[in-house]
Amino acid sequence: MDLLAIPAFTDNYVWLLHDGQRALVVDPGDAGPVLDALQRLNLQLDTILLTHHHADHVGGVDALREAFHPRIVGPAFETLPGPVERLSEGDTVTALGLTFSVIDVPGHTAGHIAFYTPQMDGLPLLFCGDTLFSGGCGRLFEGTPAQMLASLDKLAALPGNTRVCCTHEYTLANLKFALAVEPGNTALQAYAEACKAKREHDQPTLPSSVDLERRINPFLRSREAAVTAAARRFDASASGEVAVFAALREWKNQFR
Ligand code: ZN
Ligand code: FE
Repeated sequence: MDLLAIPAFTDNYVWLLHDGQRALVVDPGDAGPVLDALQRLNLQLDTILLTHHHADHVGGVDALREAFHPRIVGPAFETLPGPVERLSEGDTVTALGLTFSVIDVPGHTAGHIAFYTPQMDGLPLLFCGDTLFSGGCGRLFEGTPAQMLASLDKLAALPGNTRVCCTHEYTLANLKFALAVEPGNTALQAYAEACKAKREHDQPTLPSSVDLERRINPFLRSREAAVTAAARRFDASASGEVAVFAALREWKNQFR
């Protein structure tokens, strides 16, 4: 199996998984770069997984449906283009011989889902859409801070060696904020240097891993004393773990 991050728009990735003949893609916001990759690698599109309804994740669905008639699965409670199999937590979907569990991760959108398989070439794999980014998390467009915190807790509880396939290359900007929150985190400092080098060579910083994110991502670390204290320097009134998480998210929204 091969896992590729296909760049789309300015900073999206459409993840493509293939076995040399058949392919699965996640969140094809733009059909063009996906069609190019399928043609270049001589692949048949078998399945499309959708995590949420935003246009930069579903905009290529109609063109890919017409070209390949793939199986298309997506969240149960969101408005999506055309006929889509509707899934929510507790459901599974099998594609290319892999079985993915669906995890409900509301927050960025109200019905956002993620796809997790415990075994792809020996390692677990997560497609988390715009819920978890390397060093950050999605903006709260439809959900509450409590929902997003609970969603991120679910993802942080997956095995540490899970490869985390996020749908945006936001890593450097996220790490700039993370370093403002936790300037003394040595794992974070080292990771920021490694990511800078990758971007200078035009390489994706992704996939990340659950273990790495637990060590460097402020939104998975809001209960750590240093992170809580930093969030309270931004908003002194933040008491309780949800309020601290909300303060952190608001601080990131304003951070330049
Ligand atoms: Zn989105
Ligand atoms: Fe997005």
